[in-house]
Amino acid sequence: MALLSWNQFTFYQPSVGRMLQNSIQTNRLSHSYIFEGPIGTKRIDAAFLLAKTLLCTQKDDHANPCGVCHHCTRVDKNVHPNLFFVQNDNKEIRKEQIKELLVEFGKASIETGPRIYIIDQAERFNQYSANILLKTMEEPGVDIFQILITTQINSLLKTIISRSQILHFRPIDKCQIKSDLEKEGFSPLLSSAVSEYTTNIDMAREMVENPLIVDSVQLVIEMARSLQIKEKSIVLHFKEKRSAILGDMAITDFFLTMLTLFLKDILNYKVRYLDLLVFTTETELIGKLSEAISQKRIEELLDKMLGLKSRLKYNINVALAFDKLLAYLERGFDHGISSSSSSI
Ligand SMILES: [Zn+2]
Repeated sequence: MALLSWNQFTFYQPSVGRMLQNSIQTNRLSHSYIFEGPIGTKRIDAAFLLAKTLLCTQKDDHANPCGVCHHCTRVDKNVHPNLFFVQNDNKEIRKEQIKELLVEFGKASIETGPRIYIIDQAERFNQYSANILLKTMEEPGVDIFQILITTQINSLLKTIISRSQILHFRPIDKCQIKSDLEKEGFSPLLSSAVSEYTTNIDMAREMVENPLIVDSVQLVIEMARSLQIKEKSIVLHFKEKRSAILGDMAITDFFLTMLTLFLKDILNYKVRYLDLLVFTTETELIGKLSEAISQKRIEELLDKMLGLKSRLKYNINVALAFDKLLAYLERGFDHGISSSSSSI
């Protein structure tokens, strides 16, 4: 999804957003940027927004591209002849790739106005391709802008780093991820759960579309309800979904994390840290469960869950470990259940 304005981008990356917008407005853009930071922090979107801003001829007073002109629409589709986006599937960015890029840049199809190249995974430059790039940086190209995108700035040539302006992209705030997902129509429960799990906004968007992720969140809630009404053992509950949850290590880890977060919610409710709750749609259930378990037992359980999480990657009998954990969890809610079981 293309970014529409600098204002919108600033929600995700406040300091980078303000800095770039200011540089455009004061006409002090650098010709070489390095966008450094983890994957899923809007680095590529920001590069395209900058390209669009440079090419758009109908910017508003706040340096926002119009979004509808012939330049903007072609940037959004990545078909603008003055924009080159290099995404690399190989281990290395080869010399030939950079040479090809420069040949393309010299072609007559180029329109007047600035030329921008965006190179993703710039840490994959090898010595030869980096040197060619360096040479182009030394040429006084009037209206050429380059944006290198990387997760590991230290693997770039020092001479490239020293000629570029480095902008650090930070992990995106979970509230922003949650609100984005909700705006896209995902349930508050799912949006909240996923935004607690990852600060990678692209990964979060993929996760909410995965039926196993949706099922995992649902299973945690169903198990919590079972703990409260005591109709069915949660061990049996889990057995019905076990093969799906345990069949994929990433899902197993997510499910265990959700279980841990739900238990933390119960603890936070107990100590009245209500603004820390993750499963805010389930506050009533969390409140009832918090009366049925001791703080000490919750802390013991959280320790066990943390232990299991760190052992997941080893070759342990995961099914057995989960059965034991859930049985222990269930026993923890045994006292005080008689008083709360009648309330549903
Ligand atoms: Zn435009």
